[in-house]
Amino acid sequence: MSQSTKFVFVTGGVVSSLGKGIVAASLGRLLRSRGYSVSIIKFDPYINVDPGTMSPFQHGEVFVTNDGAETDLDLGHYERFIDTNLTSLNNITSGRIYSNVINKERRGDYLGATVQTIPHITDEIKNAIKEVANCLAPQFLICEIGGTIGDIEGLPFVEAVRQFRYDVGTKNACFIHVTLVPYLKAAGEVKTKPSQHSVNMLRNVGIQPDILVCRSEVELEETHRRKLAQFTNVDPESVIQCVDLDSIYEVPLAMEKEGLAHRVLEKLNVDSPEPDLKSWKALVQSLKNPSKTVNIALAGKYTGLSDAYLSVIESLKHAAAQNDARVNIHWVDTETCATLADAQAKLAGVDGVVVPGGFGNRGIEGKINVIQYAREHNLPFLGLCLGMQCAVIEFARHVAQLNGAHSGEFEDTAPHLVIDLMDHQKSISDLGGTMRLGQYPCHLTKGSLTEKLYAAEGHSDVVMERHRHRYEFNNDYRQMLIDAGLIISGTSPDRKLVEVVELPQHKYFIGCQFHPEFLSRPGKSHPLFQGLIRAAMGLPQTFEEGQQVTTSEVASPVSSTKP
Ligand code: GLN
Repeated sequence: MSQSTKFVFVTGGVVSSLGKGIVAASLGRLLRSRGYSVSIIKFDPYINVDPGTMSPFQHGEVFVTNDGAETDLDLGHYERFIDTNLTSLNNITSGRIYSNVINKERRGDYLGATVQTIPHITDEIKNAIKEVANCLAPQFLICEIGGTIGDIEGLPFVEAVRQFRYDVGTKNACFIHVTLVPYLKAAGEVKTKPSQHSVNMLRNVGIQPDILVCRSEVELEETHRRKLAQFTNVDPESVIQCVDLDSIYEVPLAMEKEGLAHRVLEKLNVDSPEPDLKSWKALVQSLKNPSKTVNIALAGKYTGLSDAYLSVIESLKHAAAQNDARVNIHWVDTETCATLADAQAKLAGVDGVVVPGGFGNRGIEGKINVIQYAREHNLPFLGLCLGMQCAVIEFARHVAQLNGAHSGEFEDTAPHLVIDLMDHQKSISDLGGTMRLGQYPCHLTKGSLTEKLYAAEGHSDVVMERHRHRYEFNNDYRQMLIDAGLIISGTSPDRKLVEVVELPQHKYFIGCQFHPEFLSRPGKSHPLFQGLIRAAMGLPQTFEEGQQVTTSEVASPVSSTKP
Protein backbone atom coordinates (compact mmCIF):
# COMPACT_ATOMS: atom_id res chain seq x y z
CA MET A 1 0.00 0.00 0.00
CA SER A 2 1.18 3.52 -0.77
CA GLN A 3 2.86 4.56 2.49
CA SER A 4 2.07 8.21 2.08
CA THR A 5 -1.74 8.00 1.94
CA LYS A 6 -3.53 9.35 5.02
CA PHE A 7 -7.04 8.11 5.79
CA VAL A 8 -10.10 9.94 7.11
CA PHE A 9 -13.16 7.89 8.06
CA VAL A 10 -16.53 9.63 8.22
CA THR A 11 -19.47 8.10 10.13
CA GLY A 12 -22.92 9.51 10.82
CA GLY A 13 -25.05 9.52 13.93
CA VAL A 14 -28.61 10.08 15.19
CA VAL A 15 -30.47 10.29 11.85
CA SER A 16 -29.87 9.66 8.18
CA SER A 17 -29.80 12.43 5.53
CA LEU A 18 -27.45 14.51 7.66
CA GLY A 19 -25.35 15.59 4.72
CA LYS A 20 -22.37 13.38 5.60
CA GLY A 21 -21.56 13.19 1.92
CA ILE A 22 -21.39 16.97 1.66
CA VAL A 23 -19.18 17.16 4.76
CA ALA A 24 -16.84 14.52 3.27
CA ALA A 25 -16.84 16.30 -0.11
CA SER A 26 -16.23 19.68 1.59
CA LEU A 27 -13.25 18.31 3.49
CA GLY A 28 -12.01 16.98 0.15
CA ARG A 29 -12.35 20.47 -1.39
CA LEU A 30 -10.47 22.06 1.52
CA LEU A 31 -7.60 19.58 1.20
CA ARG A 32 -7.51 20.03 -2.60
CA SER A 33 -7.45 23.81 -2.08
CA ARG A 34 -4.30 23.29 -0.03
CA GLY A 35 -2.68 21.51 -2.96
CA TYR A 36 -3.20 17.91 -1.73
CA SER A 37 -4.54 15.13 -3.93
CA VAL A 38 -7.72 13.52 -2.64
CA SER A 39 -9.90 10.54 -3.39
CA ILE A 40 -13.14 9.56 -1.65
CA ILE A 41 -14.78 6.18 -1.10
CA LYS A 42 -18.47 5.72 -0.33
CA PHE A 43 -19.34 2.52 1.52
CA ASP A 44 -22.98 1.55 1.08
CA PRO A 45 -24.13 -1.14 3.48
CA TYR A 46 -26.95 -2.53 1.28
CA ILE A 47 -26.88 -5.92 -0.44
CA ASN A 48 -27.32 -4.64 -4.00
CA VAL A 49 -23.99 -5.11 -5.80
CA ASP A 50 -24.37 -1.58 -7.16
CA PRO A 51 -27.22 0.94 -7.22
CA GLY A 52 -27.76 0.38 -10.96
CA THR A 53 -30.93 -1.63 -10.44
CA MET A 54 -32.34 0.54 -7.64
CA SER A 55 -35.30 2.87 -8.16
CA PRO A 56 -34.44 6.59 -8.24
CA PHE A 57 -37.58 6.95 -6.09
CA GLN A 58 -35.80 5.19 -3.24
CA HIS A 59 -32.21 5.93 -3.92
CA GLY A 60 -31.95 9.05 -6.05
CA GLU A 61 -30.02 9.19 -9.30
CA VAL A 62 -27.49 6.60 -10.35
CA PHE A 63 -24.21 8.43 -10.95
CA VAL A 64 -21.96 7.00 -13.67
CA THR A 65 -18.15 7.24 -13.58
CA ASN A 66 -15.77 7.36 -16.56
CA ASP A 67 -15.00 3.68 -16.18
CA GLY A 68 -18.69 2.81 -16.31
CA ALA A 69 -19.53 2.14 -12.67
CA GLU A 70 -23.12 2.79 -11.62
CA THR A 71 -22.68 4.47 -8.25
CA ASP A 72 -24.35 6.30 -5.40
CA LEU A 73 -25.23 9.94 -6.02
CA ASP A 74 -22.72 11.01 -3.38
CA LEU A 75 -19.97 10.25 -5.91
CA GLY A 76 -21.42 13.06 -8.01
CA HIS A 77 -21.04 15.45 -5.09
CA TYR A 78 -17.50 14.20 -4.52
CA GLU A 79 -16.47 14.70 -8.15
CA ARG A 80 -18.03 18.15 -8.29
CA PHE A 81 -16.41 19.24 -5.03
CA ILE A 82 -12.93 17.77 -5.44
CA ASP A 83 -12.87 18.22 -9.24
CA THR A 84 -11.32 14.77 -9.62
CA ASN A 85 -12.71 11.81 -11.58
CA LEU A 86 -13.56 8.78 -9.48
CA THR A 87 -13.76 5.12 -10.49
CA SER A 88 -15.63 1.90 -9.82
CA LEU A 89 -13.29 1.40 -6.86
CA ASN A 90 -14.74 4.44 -5.12
CA ASN A 91 -18.18 3.00 -4.35
CA ILE A 92 -18.23 -0.21 -2.37
CA THR A 93 -21.46 -1.90 -1.30
CA SER A 94 -21.99 -4.81 1.08
CA GLY A 95 -23.31 -6.68 -1.95
CA ARG A 96 -19.99 -6.27 -3.77
CA ILE A 97 -17.99 -7.33 -0.69
CA TYR A 98 -20.16 -10.39 0.00
CA SER A 99 -20.18 -11.46 -3.62
CA ASN A 100 -16.35 -11.24 -3.77
CA VAL A 101 -16.06 -13.31 -0.60
CA ILE A 102 -18.57 -15.90 -1.79
CA ASN A 103 -16.80 -16.20 -5.16
CA LYS A 104 -13.50 -16.77 -3.36
CA GLU A 105 -15.11 -19.37 -1.12
CA ARG A 106 -16.53 -21.20 -4.17
CA ARG A 107 -13.11 -21.16 -5.80
CA GLY A 108 -11.60 -22.70 -2.68
CA ASP A 109 -9.40 -19.70 -1.92
CA TYR A 110 -10.00 -20.00 1.82
CA LEU A 111 -8.48 -23.49 1.92
CA GLY A 112 -11.19 -25.10 4.03
CA ALA A 113 -11.53 -22.32 6.59
CA THR A 114 -14.92 -21.41 8.02
CA VAL A 115 -15.76 -18.17 6.21
CA GLN A 116 -16.95 -15.51 8.65
CA THR A 117 -17.81 -11.83 8.94
CA ILE A 118 -14.62 -11.36 10.94
CA PRO A 119 -12.03 -11.76 9.46
CA HIS A 120 -13.16 -12.55 5.90
CA ILE A 121 -15.72 -9.81 5.25
CA THR A 122 -13.74 -7.21 7.22
CA ASP A 123 -10.51 -8.18 5.39
CA GLU A 124 -12.29 -7.81 2.05
CA ILE A 125 -13.38 -4.28 3.10
CA LYS A 126 -9.85 -3.41 4.22
CA ASN A 127 -8.49 -4.70 0.91
CA ALA A 128 -10.98 -2.50 -0.96
CA ILE A 129 -9.60 0.55 0.89
CA LYS A 130 -6.01 -0.51 0.19
CA GLU A 131 -6.85 -1.01 -3.48
CA VAL A 132 -7.92 2.62 -3.84
CA ALA A 133 -4.82 3.78 -1.96
CA ASN A 134 -2.63 1.66 -4.26
CA CYS A 135 -4.33 2.30 -7.60
CA LEU A 136 -5.15 6.00 -7.22
CA ALA A 137 -2.39 6.88 -4.71
CA PRO A 138 -4.07 9.98 -3.28
CA GLN A 139 -2.38 11.88 -0.46
CA PHE A 140 -5.70 11.75 1.40
CA LEU A 141 -8.34 9.05 1.13
CA ILE A 142 -11.64 10.00 2.72
CA CYS A 143 -14.02 7.06 3.38
CA GLU A 144 -17.66 7.75 4.14
CA ILE A 145 -19.65 4.93 5.73
CA GLY A 146 -23.28 5.15 4.58
CA GLY A 147 -26.14 4.84 7.07
CA THR A 148 -26.18 5.65 10.78
CA ILE A 149 -24.11 4.27 13.64
CA GLY A 150 -26.15 1.50 15.25
CA ASP A 151 -27.44 0.09 11.94
CA ILE A 152 -26.88 -3.66 11.94
CA GLU A 153 -25.79 -3.76 8.29
CA GLY A 154 -23.11 -1.09 8.79
CA LEU A 155 -21.26 -3.01 11.51
CA PRO A 156 -18.78 -4.93 9.32
CA PHE A 157 -17.64 -1.62 7.77
CA VAL A 158 -17.25 0.02 11.18
CA GLU A 159 -15.24 -2.93 12.48
CA ALA A 160 -13.11 -2.96 9.33
CA VAL A 161 -12.18 0.72 9.65
CA ARG A 162 -11.50 0.31 13.37
CA GLN A 163 -8.99 -2.40 12.49
CA PHE A 164 -7.65 -0.36 9.61
CA ARG A 165 -6.72 2.53 11.88
CA TYR A 166 -5.01 0.08 14.24
CA ASP A 167 -3.09 -1.36 11.26
CA VAL A 168 -1.88 1.99 9.87
CA GLY A 169 -1.43 3.80 13.20
CA THR A 170 -3.08 6.83 14.76
CA LYS A 171 -0.96 9.35 12.83
CA ASN A 172 -2.21 7.96 9.54
CA ALA A 173 -5.96 7.74 10.09
CA CYS A 174 -8.60 9.75 11.91
CA PHE A 175 -12.34 9.57 12.54
CA ILE A 176 -14.95 12.23 11.97
CA HIS A 177 -18.44 11.66 13.34
CA VAL A 178 -21.19 13.78 11.79
CA THR A 179 -24.10 14.12 14.16
CA LEU A 180 -27.33 16.02 14.69
CA VAL A 181 -27.75 18.58 17.45
CA PRO A 182 -31.48 19.27 17.33
CA TYR A 183 -33.09 22.55 18.35
CA LEU A 184 -36.32 22.19 20.31
CA LYS A 185 -38.44 25.20 19.49
CA ALA A 186 -40.87 24.81 22.38
CA ALA A 187 -38.02 24.65 24.89
CA GLY A 188 -35.94 27.18 22.96
CA GLU A 189 -32.91 24.93 23.48
CA VAL A 190 -30.46 22.82 21.52
CA LYS A 191 -30.09 19.27 22.78
CA THR A 192 -26.75 17.50 22.97
CA LYS A 193 -28.01 14.17 24.37
CA PRO A 194 -28.64 12.39 21.03
CA SER A 195 -25.05 13.14 19.99
CA GLN A 196 -23.69 11.90 23.30
CA HIS A 197 -25.59 8.62 22.80
CA SER A 198 -24.41 8.35 19.24
CA VAL A 199 -20.75 8.76 20.23
CA ASN A 200 -21.31 6.20 23.02
CA MET A 201 -22.52 3.75 20.40
CA LEU A 202 -19.43 4.42 18.33
CA ARG A 203 -17.21 3.87 21.37
CA ASN A 204 -19.03 0.59 22.07
CA VAL A 205 -17.68 -0.69 18.79
CA GLY A 206 -14.19 0.55 19.60
CA ILE A 207 -14.03 3.91 17.84
CA GLN A 208 -13.32 7.20 19.58
CA PRO A 209 -14.04 10.01 17.12
CA ASP A 210 -11.33 12.65 16.75
CA ILE A 211 -13.67 15.29 15.37
CA LEU A 212 -17.38 15.89 15.84
CA VAL A 213 -19.24 17.77 13.10
CA CYS A 214 -22.55 18.94 14.55
CA ARG A 215 -25.35 19.57 12.09
CA SER A 216 -27.69 22.11 13.56
CA GLU A 217 -30.42 24.57 12.62
CA VAL A 218 -28.97 27.24 14.92
CA GLU A 219 -25.51 28.41 15.96
CA LEU A 220 -24.06 26.44 18.87
CA GLU A 221 -23.01 28.35 21.94
CA GLU A 222 -19.70 27.84 23.71
CA THR A 223 -21.50 25.99 26.54
CA HIS A 224 -22.93 23.46 24.07
CA ARG A 225 -19.55 22.84 22.52
CA ARG A 226 -17.96 22.35 25.89
CA LYS A 227 -20.71 20.00 27.00
CA LEU A 228 -20.39 17.96 23.82
CA ALA A 229 -16.62 17.84 24.24
CA GLN A 230 -16.83 16.82 27.87
CA PHE A 231 -19.27 13.96 27.28
CA THR A 232 -17.73 12.65 24.09
CA ASN A 233 -14.04 12.98 24.91
CA VAL A 234 -13.45 15.08 21.78
CA ASP A 235 -11.19 18.19 22.14
CA PRO A 236 -13.40 21.30 22.44
CA GLU A 237 -11.74 22.82 19.37
CA SER A 238 -12.59 19.68 17.40
CA VAL A 239 -16.32 20.08 18.07
CA ILE A 240 -17.33 21.77 14.86
CA GLN A 241 -20.71 23.22 14.02
CA CYS A 242 -22.27 22.88 10.59
CA VAL A 243 -25.34 25.11 10.50
CA ASP A 244 -27.96 24.79 7.70
CA LEU A 245 -27.00 26.85 4.64
CA ASP A 246 -28.82 27.90 1.45
CA SER A 247 -26.46 26.12 -0.90
CA ILE A 248 -24.33 23.00 -0.50
CA TYR A 249 -21.49 24.92 -2.18
CA GLU A 250 -21.28 27.17 0.90
CA VAL A 251 -20.39 24.22 3.15
CA PRO A 252 -16.65 24.10 2.34
CA LEU A 253 -16.35 27.80 3.22
CA ALA A 254 -18.26 27.32 6.48
CA MET A 255 -16.12 24.27 7.32
CA GLU A 256 -12.95 26.23 6.60
CA LYS A 257 -14.09 28.94 8.99
CA GLU A 258 -14.65 26.26 11.62
CA GLY A 259 -11.18 24.85 11.02
CA LEU A 260 -12.23 21.36 9.87
CA ALA A 261 -9.33 20.72 7.47
CA HIS A 262 -6.88 22.30 9.88
CA ARG A 263 -7.99 19.91 12.64
CA VAL A 264 -7.73 16.90 10.35
CA LEU A 265 -4.23 17.88 9.21
CA GLU A 266 -3.16 18.45 12.78
CA LYS A 267 -4.40 15.00 13.85
CA LEU A 268 -2.56 13.44 10.92
CA ASN A 269 0.65 15.38 11.48
CA VAL A 270 0.58 17.09 8.09
CA ASP A 271 1.26 20.77 7.26
CA SER A 272 -1.77 22.98 6.85
CA PRO A 273 -0.91 25.69 4.31
CA GLU A 274 -3.37 28.48 3.53
CA PRO A 275 -6.04 27.15 1.15
CA ASP A 276 -6.68 28.83 -2.19
CA LEU A 277 -10.46 29.25 -2.15
CA LYS A 278 -10.67 32.25 -4.50
CA SER A 279 -12.56 30.58 -7.30
CA TRP A 280 -14.80 28.68 -4.89
CA LYS A 281 -15.73 31.93 -3.14
CA ALA A 282 -16.48 33.53 -6.51
CA LEU A 283 -18.71 30.57 -7.36
CA VAL A 284 -20.65 30.89 -4.10
CA GLN A 285 -20.96 34.61 -4.69
CA SER A 286 -22.46 34.08 -8.13
CA LEU A 287 -24.80 31.37 -6.85
CA LYS A 288 -26.05 33.55 -4.00
CA ASN A 289 -26.43 36.95 -5.59
CA PRO A 290 -27.38 36.59 -9.24
CA SER A 291 -29.06 39.54 -10.90
CA LYS A 292 -31.24 37.50 -13.27
CA THR A 293 -33.56 34.52 -13.20
CA VAL A 294 -34.10 31.78 -15.76
CA ASN A 295 -37.07 29.40 -15.71
CA ILE A 296 -36.38 25.86 -16.87
CA ALA A 297 -38.94 23.06 -17.05
CA LEU A 298 -37.70 19.64 -16.01
CA ALA A 299 -40.11 17.25 -17.70
CA GLY A 300 -39.76 13.80 -16.19
CA LYS A 301 -41.56 11.29 -14.04
CA TYR A 302 -40.00 11.74 -10.61
CA THR A 303 -41.25 15.29 -10.26
CA GLY A 304 -40.29 17.09 -7.09
CA LEU A 305 -37.78 14.37 -6.26
CA SER A 306 -34.72 16.46 -6.78
CA ASP A 307 -32.39 13.57 -5.83
CA ALA A 308 -33.64 11.59 -8.83
CA TYR A 309 -32.25 14.27 -11.16
CA LEU A 310 -29.51 15.59 -8.90
CA SER A 311 -26.74 16.03 -11.47
CA VAL A 312 -29.14 17.62 -13.99
CA ILE A 313 -30.20 20.18 -11.41
CA GLU A 314 -26.62 20.89 -10.35
CA SER A 315 -25.61 21.29 -14.02
CA LEU A 316 -28.40 23.82 -14.56
CA LYS A 317 -27.28 25.71 -11.44
CA HIS A 318 -23.64 25.76 -12.61
CA ALA A 319 -24.62 27.08 -16.06
CA ALA A 320 -27.01 29.69 -14.66
CA ALA A 321 -24.45 30.90 -12.08
CA GLN A 322 -21.92 31.36 -14.88
CA ASN A 323 -24.43 33.66 -16.59
CA ASP A 324 -25.29 35.68 -13.48
CA ALA A 325 -28.66 33.96 -13.10
CA ARG A 326 -30.58 31.83 -10.66
CA VAL A 327 -32.39 28.88 -12.18
CA ASN A 328 -36.00 28.23 -11.16
CA ILE A 329 -36.87 24.62 -11.84
CA HIS A 330 -40.48 24.02 -12.96
CA TRP A 331 -41.31 20.37 -12.38
CA VAL A 332 -43.45 19.02 -15.19
CA ASP A 333 -44.92 15.59 -14.59
CA THR A 334 -45.14 14.20 -18.11
CA GLU A 335 -47.97 11.89 -17.06
CA THR A 336 -50.09 15.03 -16.92
CA CYS A 337 -49.19 16.05 -20.49
CA ALA A 338 -51.48 13.65 -22.34
CA THR A 339 -52.17 16.19 -25.11
CA LEU A 340 -50.23 18.95 -26.80
CA ALA A 341 -52.54 21.45 -25.11
CA ASP A 342 -51.69 19.96 -21.70
CA ALA A 343 -47.99 20.30 -22.51
CA GLN A 344 -48.50 23.90 -23.59
CA ALA A 345 -50.31 24.70 -20.31
CA LYS A 346 -47.57 23.08 -18.23
CA LEU A 347 -44.82 24.93 -20.09
CA ALA A 348 -46.41 28.36 -19.60
CA GLY A 349 -43.85 30.85 -18.35
CA VAL A 350 -40.74 28.73 -18.89
CA ASP A 351 -37.72 29.89 -20.89
CA GLY A 352 -36.41 26.43 -21.74
CA VAL A 353 -37.01 22.75 -21.17
CA VAL A 354 -34.94 19.71 -20.27
CA VAL A 355 -36.23 16.19 -20.84
CA PRO A 356 -33.91 14.03 -18.73
CA GLY A 357 -33.00 10.35 -18.94
CA GLY A 358 -35.18 7.53 -17.74
CA PHE A 359 -36.44 4.00 -18.18
CA GLY A 360 -39.91 2.57 -18.72
CA ASN A 361 -43.07 3.57 -20.50
CA ARG A 362 -44.60 5.87 -17.90
CA GLY A 363 -45.04 9.44 -19.13
CA ILE A 364 -43.44 8.76 -22.54
CA GLU A 365 -46.26 10.23 -24.65
CA GLY A 366 -46.21 13.28 -22.37
CA LYS A 367 -42.49 13.72 -23.00
CA ILE A 368 -43.13 13.53 -26.74
CA ASN A 369 -45.86 16.19 -26.41
CA VAL A 370 -43.55 18.46 -24.41
CA ILE A 371 -40.85 18.08 -27.08
CA GLN A 372 -43.32 18.73 -29.93
CA TYR A 373 -44.38 21.93 -28.21
CA ALA A 374 -40.76 23.03 -27.68
CA ARG A 375 -39.86 22.24 -31.31
CA GLU A 376 -42.86 24.01 -32.80
CA HIS A 377 -42.62 27.08 -30.54
CA ASN A 378 -38.90 27.71 -30.70
CA LEU A 379 -38.53 26.97 -26.98
CA PRO A 380 -34.92 26.06 -26.09
CA PHE A 381 -34.72 22.31 -25.51
CA LEU A 382 -32.10 19.87 -24.26
CA GLY A 383 -32.86 16.14 -24.33
CA LEU A 384 -30.68 13.83 -22.27
CA CYS A 385 -30.47 10.16 -23.23
CA LEU A 386 -34.15 9.12 -23.10
CA GLY A 387 -34.91 12.81 -23.77
CA MET A 388 -32.88 12.58 -27.00
CA GLN A 389 -34.59 9.32 -27.95
CA CYS A 390 -38.02 10.94 -27.44
CA ALA A 391 -36.92 13.90 -29.58
CA VAL A 392 -36.03 11.48 -32.40
CA ILE A 393 -39.40 9.72 -32.05
CA GLU A 394 -41.23 13.07 -32.07
CA PHE A 395 -39.36 14.26 -35.16
CA ALA A 396 -39.95 10.95 -36.95
CA ARG A 397 -43.69 11.02 -36.22
CA HIS A 398 -44.47 14.66 -36.89
CA VAL A 399 -41.84 15.88 -39.34
CA ALA A 400 -40.71 12.77 -41.25
CA GLN A 401 -44.32 11.48 -41.25
CA LEU A 402 -43.33 8.06 -39.94
CA ASN A 403 -46.65 7.32 -38.24
CA GLY A 404 -46.35 5.15 -35.19
CA ALA A 405 -42.60 5.75 -34.83
CA HIS A 406 -41.45 4.53 -31.43
CA SER A 407 -38.67 2.97 -29.40
CA GLY A 408 -38.30 -0.80 -29.12
CA GLU A 409 -38.13 -0.26 -25.35
CA PHE A 410 -41.79 0.76 -25.27
CA GLU A 411 -43.53 -0.97 -28.18
CA ASP A 412 -41.45 -3.47 -30.04
CA THR A 413 -44.21 -4.12 -32.59
CA ALA A 414 -44.46 -0.45 -33.61
CA PRO A 415 -44.17 0.09 -37.40
CA HIS A 416 -41.06 2.29 -37.20
CA LEU A 417 -38.58 1.53 -34.44
CA VAL A 418 -36.46 4.64 -34.85
CA ILE A 419 -34.85 3.81 -31.50
CA ASP A 420 -33.98 0.17 -30.97
CA LEU A 421 -31.65 -2.32 -29.33
CA MET A 422 -28.26 -2.94 -30.84
CA ASP A 423 -28.20 -6.42 -32.36
CA HIS A 424 -25.65 -7.83 -29.94
CA GLN A 425 -27.80 -6.77 -26.96
CA LYS A 426 -30.93 -8.60 -28.04
CA SER A 427 -29.97 -11.85 -26.37
CA ILE A 428 -29.19 -10.26 -22.99
CA SER A 429 -31.76 -10.94 -20.28
CA ASP A 430 -30.06 -9.76 -17.06
CA LEU A 431 -30.87 -6.19 -16.05
CA GLY A 432 -27.78 -5.57 -13.89
CA GLY A 433 -24.62 -4.38 -15.60
CA THR A 434 -25.77 -4.93 -19.20
CA MET A 435 -25.89 -1.39 -20.51
CA ARG A 436 -23.57 0.77 -22.55
CA LEU A 437 -21.91 2.39 -19.60
CA GLY A 438 -19.18 4.91 -18.97
CA GLN A 439 -17.02 7.10 -21.10
CA TYR A 440 -16.99 6.88 -24.92
CA PRO A 441 -15.59 9.24 -27.54
CA CYS A 442 -18.03 11.29 -29.61
CA HIS A 443 -17.04 12.83 -32.92
CA LEU A 444 -18.74 16.19 -33.44
CA THR A 445 -19.94 17.24 -36.89
CA LYS A 446 -17.98 20.26 -38.16
CA GLY A 447 -20.07 23.39 -38.30
CA SER A 448 -22.91 22.06 -36.17
CA LEU A 449 -24.23 24.08 -33.23
CA THR A 450 -23.07 21.29 -30.92
CA GLU A 451 -19.52 21.42 -32.25
CA LYS A 452 -19.41 25.21 -31.89
CA LEU A 453 -20.68 25.08 -28.32
CA TYR A 454 -17.96 22.61 -27.36
CA ALA A 455 -15.30 24.53 -29.31
CA ALA A 456 -16.24 27.75 -27.51
CA GLU A 457 -15.37 26.02 -24.22
CA GLY A 458 -12.02 24.86 -25.57
CA HIS A 459 -12.93 21.29 -26.61
CA SER A 460 -11.72 19.60 -29.80
CA ASP A 461 -14.15 17.91 -32.18
CA VAL A 462 -13.75 14.57 -30.39
CA VAL A 463 -15.15 14.72 -26.87
CA MET A 464 -15.47 12.08 -24.18
CA GLU A 465 -18.91 11.71 -22.62
CA ARG A 466 -20.52 9.29 -20.15
CA HIS A 467 -23.28 6.87 -21.16
CA ARG A 468 -25.91 4.72 -19.47
CA HIS A 469 -28.41 3.20 -21.86
CA ARG A 470 -29.38 0.11 -23.83
CA TYR A 471 -31.22 1.54 -26.82
CA GLU A 472 -29.75 3.47 -29.76
CA PHE A 473 -30.77 5.55 -32.74
CA ASN A 474 -31.68 3.04 -35.48
CA ASN A 475 -29.51 3.57 -38.56
CA ASP A 476 -32.25 2.15 -40.83
CA TYR A 477 -33.92 5.55 -40.40
CA ARG A 478 -30.81 7.72 -40.43
CA GLN A 479 -30.97 8.95 -44.01
CA MET A 480 -34.75 9.40 -43.89
CA LEU A 481 -34.52 11.62 -40.82
CA ILE A 482 -31.56 13.58 -42.24
CA ASP A 483 -33.58 14.15 -45.42
CA ALA A 484 -36.45 15.44 -43.28
CA GLY A 485 -34.09 18.02 -41.72
CA LEU A 486 -32.59 16.40 -38.63
CA ILE A 487 -28.90 17.18 -38.10
CA ILE A 488 -26.71 14.43 -36.73
CA SER A 489 -24.20 16.54 -34.85
CA GLY A 490 -22.31 13.81 -33.00
CA THR A 491 -21.50 10.17 -33.72
CA SER A 492 -19.18 7.47 -32.45
CA PRO A 493 -15.77 7.85 -34.18
CA ASP A 494 -16.65 5.01 -36.61
CA ARG A 495 -19.89 6.96 -37.37
CA LYS A 496 -21.99 3.92 -36.56
CA LEU A 497 -23.76 5.25 -33.48
CA VAL A 498 -25.66 8.52 -33.45
CA GLU A 499 -24.76 10.39 -30.27
CA VAL A 500 -26.15 13.92 -30.76
CA VAL A 501 -28.97 15.36 -32.86
CA GLU A 502 -29.98 18.98 -33.36
CA LEU A 503 -32.40 21.05 -35.38
CA PRO A 504 -31.55 24.02 -37.58
CA GLN A 505 -33.67 27.18 -37.51
CA HIS A 506 -34.43 26.75 -33.85
CA LYS A 507 -33.16 28.86 -30.94
CA TYR A 508 -31.69 25.75 -29.36
CA PHE A 509 -32.78 22.17 -29.91
CA ILE A 510 -30.25 19.50 -28.98
CA GLY A 511 -30.62 15.90 -27.87
CA CYS A 512 -27.67 13.78 -26.76
CA GLN A 513 -27.52 10.05 -26.17
CA PHE A 514 -24.99 10.56 -23.36
CA HIS A 515 -25.30 12.27 -19.98
CA PRO A 516 -23.47 15.61 -19.99
CA GLU A 517 -24.83 16.25 -16.49
CA PHE A 518 -22.21 13.88 -15.06
CA LEU A 519 -19.37 16.10 -16.28
CA SER A 520 -20.53 19.58 -15.29
CA ARG A 521 -18.49 21.05 -12.45
CA PRO A 522 -19.04 24.25 -10.48
CA GLY A 523 -17.29 27.07 -12.31
CA LYS A 524 -16.81 24.79 -15.36
CA SER A 525 -20.32 24.33 -16.64
CA HIS A 526 -20.92 21.83 -19.46
CA PRO A 527 -21.17 23.39 -22.97
CA LEU A 528 -24.60 21.84 -23.67
CA PHE A 529 -26.10 23.18 -20.42
CA GLN A 530 -24.37 26.50 -20.91
CA GLY A 531 -25.86 26.67 -24.43
CA LEU A 532 -29.35 25.88 -23.15
CA ILE A 533 -29.22 28.47 -20.38
CA ARG A 534 -27.87 31.19 -22.69
CA ALA A 535 -30.54 30.45 -25.30
CA ALA A 536 -33.22 30.43 -22.58
CA MET A 537 -31.96 33.80 -21.30
CA GLY A 538 -31.98 35.25 -24.81
CA LEU A 539 -28.19 35.67 -24.75
CA PRO A 540 -26.04 35.02 -27.83
CA GLN A 541 -23.94 31.86 -27.64
CA THR A 542 -20.32 32.37 -26.69
CA PHE A 543 -18.90 31.33 -30.07
CA GLU A 544 -18.24 34.15 -32.49
CA GLU A 545 -21.39 35.73 -33.83
CA GLY A 546 -21.91 35.48 -37.55
CA GLN A 547 -20.47 31.96 -37.57
CA GLN A 548 -23.38 30.38 -39.39
CA VAL A 549 -24.53 26.99 -38.27
CA THR A 550 -25.11 25.40 -41.62
CA THR A 551 -24.31 21.78 -41.67
CA SER A 552 -26.25 18.63 -41.99
CA GLU A 553 -24.47 15.31 -41.80
CA VAL A 554 -24.09 14.11 -45.35
CA ALA A 555 -25.29 10.68 -46.40
CA SER A 556 -23.87 8.37 -43.81
CA PRO A 557 -21.18 5.92 -44.83
CA VAL A 558 -22.63 3.15 -42.67
CA SER A 559 -24.66 0.26 -44.01
CA SER A 560 -28.36 0.31 -43.28
CA THR A 561 -28.25 -2.49 -40.74
CA LYS A 562 -29.49 -1.66 -37.29
CA PRO A 563 -26.91 -0.18 -34.94
N1 GLN B 1 -34.21 3.82 -21.41
C1 GLN B 1 -33.32 4.30 -22.41
C2 GLN B 1 -32.29 3.25 -22.82
O1 GLN B 1 -32.09 2.29 -22.14
C3 GLN B 1 -32.65 5.57 -21.96
C4 GLN B 1 -31.77 5.41 -20.76
C5 GLN B 1 -31.46 6.71 -20.07
O2 GLN B 1 -32.10 7.72 -20.29
N2 GLN B 1 -30.49 6.69 -19.19
O3 GLN B 1 -31.66 3.37 -23.83
